[in-house]
Amino acid sequence: MQTYHIWTIGCQMNTADSERLGSALEQLGLTAVPRPADADVVVLNSCVVRQSAEDKVTGTLNLTQPLRKKRPDAVLALTGCMVGPRTEELQKRFPHVDLFLRPQEFEPLLEVVGERLGLDWEGCVGALAPQRPDVATYVPIIHGCDLMCTFCIIPYRRGRQVSRSVDDVAHEVELLATRGVREVTVLGQTVDAYGHEGDDLADLFARLNDIDGLDRIRFLTSHPSYMSSRIIKSVADLPKVCEHINLPVQAGDDDVLRRMRRPYTTAEYRDIISEIRDTIPDVTISTDIIVGFPGETEQQYENTLQLVDDLRFDKVHGAAYSTRPGTIAARTMDDDVPQEEKQRRLKGLETLQEGILTDINSAYLHDTVQVLAENRKRGSWTGRTRGNKLVYFDLPETADCVAGPDLTGQLVDVRITRTGPWSLAGVTA
Ligand code: SF4
Repeated sequence: MQTYHIWTIGCQMNTADSERLGSALEQLGLTAVPRPADADVVVLNSCVVRQSAEDKVTGTLNLTQPLRKKRPDAVLALTGCMVGPRTEELQKRFPHVDLFLRPQEFEPLLEVVGERLGLDWEGCVGALAPQRPDVATYVPIIHGCDLMCTFCIIPYRRGRQVSRSVDDVAHEVELLATRGVREVTVLGQTVDAYGHEGDDLADLFARLNDIDGLDRIRFLTSHPSYMSSRIIKSVADLPKVCEHINLPVQAGDDDVLRRMRRPYTTAEYRDIISEIRDTIPDVTISTDIIVGFPGETEQQYENTLQLVDDLRFDKVHGAAYSTRPGTIAARTMDDDVPQEEKQRRLKGLETLQEGILTDINSAYLHDTVQVLAENRKRGSWTGRTRGNKLVYFDLPETADCVAGPDLTGQLVDVRITRTGPWSLAGVTA
């Protein structure tokens, strides 16, 4: 057994989990391969946050059936949010899968791989930080969620909130910095709820801010109920913490928020946004919104549009509600907004946001912004500003060439020459 393949779908937490599992497998001597057909260990890291994601996982699982026949000795595992505490039903549906692992439950797989290789995995696997990380990398700092939003399946799959210690996270980030990482995004389902033995997210930021070689710190995803003045101030004060906050509002109507069990009102949410904007110069803010939640009236949807129009976010991750079996909403509410109506509302939200973003981004024209160069695609470099704006850029002297200096991991000043709703473009200044 020498090779592995991990297929990943879903949020940044799944990406981070897959990287960490890959790191563990590599420490056991396995090599990553791009095709599952060539792998001795195949892992599917699943997401069920929306029906479309779950359908993709099911389709991919079905595609692995012929592989099972061809390679009876290969190990096939399913992990991620599709796997809850009880796996009987999954075992019945997918009998060709060897192992069902809850999110971050790597041990049973490492044990099987270790046995086949004649290795004691616990003696072989050390820190789970990725071996060859990208210059911008995710670091999970808090697992699970203690809230119970009625539409969400995550607390049932990832369990209750558990934070890693500041020391543990800092040592991992130090290691990543020595491996070339310039930007970390610390992750949690409710990242601003981070807390370990009296330390909060602001304390963690202060510690990470001192790490040599690291240029930028980001954080995802925040929850309005945990966003404290202390955290906001630390974003303003610490030079490496980027001025970007993702703060999901989910709906712009108090009655919908109550039925979603989001424990804040729209007025409270607006107050937090005001405090963030008053405290952090040049901050950018993104949000998540669900339209077509059970019982959402036209007026309630209009209230959401009004909130978006008023607060002018730098990004809105919009989604049409879809019932997730096992959630409170699925058990107690009637999914009564017709599918076509949900799509109409989503389109309306996206159209509004596109206009807002066109306007916001046009203000960057002729500005010089700092970009972390991440990679080169079709001749142009891509990277992000501190405010998380995607930028395509060229070096003036190599704009028409395929080759040029390798800028990966460098902070580059870019003069913006073109703007659009979804990205900026320019040349190095
Ligand atoms: S805060 Fe709500 S939406 Fe976010 S993970 Fe927890 S339950 Fe799900």
